[in-house]
Amino acid sequence: MAKDNKKPKDKKPKFSPYWVYGALIALFLGFQLFSGDSYEGGNTITPQDFFNYLKEGDVARVNIVKNTRVAKVYLTPEAQTKEIHKGSKPQSIIPSATELPNYKFEFGDLQNFENEVNLIIKDLPSKPKPKVTFDTETNELGNLLMGILPFILLIGVWIFIMRRMSGGAGGGAGGQIFNIGKSKAKLFDEKTEVKTTFKDVAGLEGAKEEVQEIVDFLKFPEKYTTLGGKIPKGALLVGPPGTGKTLLAKAVAGEAKVPFFSLSGSDFVEMFVGVGASRVRDLFKQAKEKSPSIIFIDEIDAIGRARGKNAMSGSNDERENTLNQLLTEMDGFGTNTNVIVIAATNRADILDKALMRAGRFDRQIFVDLPDVREREEIFEVHLRPLKKAENLDLDFLSKQTPGFSGADIANVCNEAALIAARNNKKAVDKQDFLDAVDRIIGGLEKKNKIITPSEKKAVAYHEAGHATVSWMLEHAAPLVKVTIVPRGRSLGAAWYLPEERLIVRPEQMLDEMCAALGGRAAEKVIFNKISTGALSDLEKVTKQARAMVTIYGLSDQIGNLTYYDSGQSDHGFTKPYSEETAVLIDKEISKIIEEQYQRAIKLLEENKDKLTELAEVLLEKEVIFKDNLEKIFGKRAFLKEEAITSKSAINNTEEEA
Ligand code: ATP
Repeated sequence: MAKDNKKPKDKKPKFSPYWVYGALIALFLGFQLFSGDSYEGGNTITPQDFFNYLKEGDVARVNIVKNTRVAKVYLTPEAQTKEIHKGSKPQSIIPSATELPNYKFEFGDLQNFENEVNLIIKDLPSKPKPKVTFDTETNELGNLLMGILPFILLIGVWIFIMRRMSGGAGGGAGGQIFNIGKSKAKLFDEKTEVKTTFKDVAGLEGAKEEVQEIVDFLKFPEKYTTLGGKIPKGALLVGPPGTGKTLLAKAVAGEAKVPFFSLSGSDFVEMFVGVGASRVRDLFKQAKEKSPSIIFIDEIDAIGRARGKNAMSGSNDERENTLNQLLTEMDGFGTNTNVIVIAATNRADILDKALMRAGRFDRQIFVDLPDVREREEIFEVHLRPLKKAENLDLDFLSKQTPGFSGADIANVCNEAALIAARNNKKAVDKQDFLDAVDRIIGGLEKKNKIITPSEKKAVAYHEAGHATVSWMLEHAAPLVKVTIVPRGRSLGAAWYLPEERLIVRPEQMLDEMCAALGGRAAEKVIFNKISTGALSDLEKVTKQARAMVTIYGLSDQIGNLTYYDSGQSDHGFTKPYSEETAVLIDKEISKIIEEQYQRAIKLLEENKDKLTELAEVLLEKEVIFKDNLEKIFGKRAFLKEEAITSKSAINNTEEEA
């Protein structure tokens, strides 16, 4: 039965929007055909011709149409045979019910025309005399069409809008009003080719292994389930921006050979209430239908933020609903096992605890900034498509890019290629890479920045001050290079290679603060004047001193106390200490900073000649490296610390313009 019912339905031609256009065009043509006088027949003649024919007795009837001022002339049957009237016989492709005129013309003023016609007819000898009839013409079909045309147009527009809103012929989800609750996930399956594989992801050994295992879970579940193990429900990729989380997920899509749904956390968000939750439901429904499958949610913090923090605002209800739905789908009643959720975020600290618990995201995979060796591998991946110079030293490049993420390295490679192209080179060489690194860290070189010689000198001594102090202190980060080329917002910079420390001792913090104050101290020692150039140094130092006192309990006066509350991410309006303590804290902070400043001044005064020598070299060369410092100061005494530096982050001390 069902089949029979279906058949006629299937045969029915589908409605197409072109029908509406077709109907409109047909109506328009019809209107053109039936309105006006194109098929009324009749050659056009002049009034004088007509009077001549009338006098000749050729006219049987003249029909005067008053409203259009047209006279239609019908000849007698005898006249129609005359040579002069040959061809005046009206021919029409459409059979007409009424007789068609032989001629027609515009007569001008009705009264005059009528009088003249009557005069001629009166004088005519022949009988029967021509008849004069009067008429008014209305184009009924045309009028009708003109009446209904606006309605047809309105209906056409309405149908068009409704079809667009309900998904249209294309049927694409999202954006359309009736599909708003549908998931916006992009599906990659065996039909869509994803070219990214694990080979394109350099470094990240641990993370790669973990996600590879997830792919294995889906491909060969028996291997794990026979021993009683359960397939994990989700994995959360956590790490700083640009470290390759999305890339890793793309590689999973390329390798897994199971349906892979990819979307971003913000795809759940819409201005309508309830849409987010509905999209989550729809996403999991689709994924379950195609299971085993993988769902990848990028930037999950858009929906996964901890609930109930801002109870006052009431604006995050929708987000909470979305999150609740996600929690239920991942581990609620009747969850399906063969769907694995991979999510990525760089803000795991703000995610809801319920989302992070085992059973939902069983695994947290940390994707960290790459170390020297990993950076070399990433360089290898991104250098593949470049035409590079033969002797390019990858080891050198990876050492010059401490703290760079994978995305930064990709950017360096691209910038280097662009710089080489700008200089019309045949291959990208080492200098192009160094320029690209400088450009990415410091911003665009400002060659035409107007800077007076005295300002330049101040900048050189400031940077030399940083370099000298940091060289002299045991715990200060080792220097990479010093430059006084203005870039971006800075006039000069000293770059360090800080160690990655798991715990930091007070003396290390103090040494770093002292080095940061070395710039201002050098200005004081050499010129006995200070300037605004030390703004960012002061900011950094003040923050560090405040942290020592109020967070890490490193001040004797305050003692082993912390005013830091890990559970409260937002700043409260009330301070957790009394006014007296506030005064004490301020005193302690300024004492710490002042001590370090005096220490820097003392160090520089003792090494004034070396500081001057360094500043002069800097003024001459504009960029100096560790080797130049070694020439002036001799080998640094604290090399042991440097050797263990593996993971590092670049830190540039900027001079505010
Ligand atoms: P975000 O958290 O900001 O979204 P992400 O960690 O998802 O960042 P990706 O989008 O994966 O970062 O990385 C950006 C680009 O950086 C990649 O397209 C790739 O070119 C490059 N990249 C990052 N890490 C690596 C890596 N390990 N190997 C090769 N390329 C990498």
